[in-house]
Amino acid sequence: YLVYQPIVELNTQRIVGFEALARMNSKEFGFVSPLEFIDIAERNQLIVPLSNYILRHACAYAAELVAMGYAHLRVAVNISAIHIMREDFTRDVLQIVKEAGIQGRNLELEVTESVLANNYNLINEKLRELMGEGINISLDDFGTGYSSFSRLRELNINTLKIDRSFIQSITDCNKDSLLTRDIVSIAQRLGLKTIAEGVEEQAHVDYLLEHGCDMCQGYLFSKPIPKEESIQLLKKHQGS
Ligand code: C2E
Ligand code: MG
Ligand code: MG
Repeated sequence: YLVYQPIVELNTQRIVGFEALARMNSKEFGFVSPLEFIDIAERNQLIVPLSNYILRHACAYAAELVAMGYAHLRVAVNISAIHIMREDFTRDVLQIVKEAGIQGRNLELEVTESVLANNYNLINEKLRELMGEGINISLDDFGTGYSSFSRLRELNINTLKIDRSFIQSITDCNKDSLLTRDIVSIAQRLGLKTIAEGVEEQAHVDYLLEHGCDMCQGYLFSKPIPKEESIQLLKKHQGS
């Protein structure tokens, strides 16, 4: 099943979207981390049906939000490297968006740098096609993989998600805080939006606001929560 974590615009404090995060509660094994079961699914040919299932549910959730009048909200879905490499990936995504009756702008796909490590040109071309349909693309866990600045310039993405390892030590006025500031500034120069991940303290928000970061996501605002709870939060926060 899926839970949803709000993504908040820093200067207005408004919810601009939700990230869908997969959960598994097994009779046999209890709660299993998504890092673990996604990895197992990737090694057992189960990732494509699982990913399409997740995408369908996330898009149905986006359609519900749109029907409630939140037409501008985006639902972000994490995309596995194996799924995106499949020949029918783009077709599957566009079909699911169409079936859900949402616009491309209501969906965001999160890819990590490791996804781009192999077949960079092919994947970048798929991203271009999806962006052409209005779908947002974000680079997840930015700063932890093998990014080069030359690639960042030509990559078909809208948003950088700054990894939470940078954010957590932001307030110590150390190298991480300087790096965060500089990532935001490079993103701005490249015309990309920024989302800070793992925001847990008001001091993180203050620092990020001061340095022009666009959005944040983290326990300070809300943990990932079930659908009904996320809708309650939305209503409470910005009126229905
Ligand atoms: P991610 O995409 O970077 O997701 C963010 C992770 O950070 C989530 O962990 C979220 O619960 C956690 N998080 C959010 N705010 C905070 C905070 O303030 N502090 C701390 N310490 N953690 C925070 P989660 O849900 O355990 O997911 C872990 C990873 O598993 C995700 O990292 C993503 O790479 C993968 N994953 C989750 N759901 C899916 C999915 O549907 N498909 C695929 N392919 N991967 C998924
Ligand atoms: Mg993510
Ligand atoms: Mg991340």
